[in-house]
Amino acid sequence: MKILLTGGSGYIGSVTTELLCDGGHDVTVFDNLERGHIEAVDPRARLVVGDLREPTGILDAMRAVKPDAVVHFAAYALVGESMQDPMMYFHNNTTGGLHLLDAMLKVGVKKIIFSSTCATYGQPEKMPMDETLPQRPTNPYGESKLMFETALRWEQQRRGIQPVFLRYFNACGASAKYGEDHDPETHIIPNVLRVALGQADAVPVFGDDYPTPDGSCIRDYIHIVDLARAHILALEKDVTGPFNLGTGTGFSVKQIVDTCREVTGHDIPVKMSPRRPGDPACLVASAAKAKEILGWEPVRSDIRTVVSDAWAWHQAHPHGYRKA
Ligand code: UDP
Repeated sequence: MKILLTGGSGYIGSVTTELLCDGGHDVTVFDNLERGHIEAVDPRARLVVGDLREPTGILDAMRAVKPDAVVHFAAYALVGESMQDPMMYFHNNTTGGLHLLDAMLKVGVKKIIFSSTCATYGQPEKMPMDETLPQRPTNPYGESKLMFETALRWEQQRRGIQPVFLRYFNACGASAKYGEDHDPETHIIPNVLRVALGQADAVPVFGDDYPTPDGSCIRDYIHIVDLARAHILALEKDVTGPFNLGTGTGFSVKQIVDTCREVTGHDIPVKMSPRRPGDPACLVASAAKAKEILGWEPVRSDIRTVVSDAWAWHQAHPHGYRKA
């Protein structure tokens, strides 16, 4: 397949590009390299540097490539930042998405796999979370992603767009080549491993008074190689609609720290800290639909494998993609 993939220099986009290239697909990455890393773009893919907030670059790329399908990752993805600057998120994630959709409609490309998020659900009323839950985002990040889902859904009815919404839970782990390198890093596993690398004295645990067995927040951690595999299945199958991607099992922040201690052999000190605004106590996916319809099942997402793969990557890249 000929694929136009936005955001191929980012964390999940880089690994999906890698797996698509492994599978013999012809991939063009469209990316502004603002938050990603050029070193993370698989050299077997073509790279077009451009920004989705500007409509002509993506239209030119769409016309030049005429892809069989689009895989759309390029976005801002930090909840806290979106609370500080909502418009930044609506411009990049929503307007950028609309420019991409416009280019697809002009060139006649129908299929799009969209990198969505469990943040579109907001505070869930039941656990585990399936795709029938109402979408009531509690932050501009989730809202900006939901707005683009909505545009895709209407153009599915109107002009036959075939969207797949992959709603990720907590992406983590690494492939042998590509891993997690954000600046600033806000995610739990890389922040814990940073202590094991000697780059921080302790990891903050944001809240130990949640209504969970050990008081810290519970999340559903899904390996990026498993996430990337779901995109390929969604491309290969004649499917549309939403799919939650998680393991169905939750781990608390304290359990993550314990697993990191076991894997690294380091005594990782923690610093009990106040709750982080906007954090729900517990988010766990039901991935039954993805299993049934996509035939997707996580194979690398047991928590020890996740942490071991992340640890291997961070040891090999102690300063991320930077050489120094
Ligand atoms: N967390 C933490 N310390 C950190 C980073 C995160 O205690 O240094 C907690 C955070 O409050 C949340 C969980 O770890 O309960 C997962 O956070 P992360 O940012 O990795 O993912 P999110 O669920 O926010 O997408």
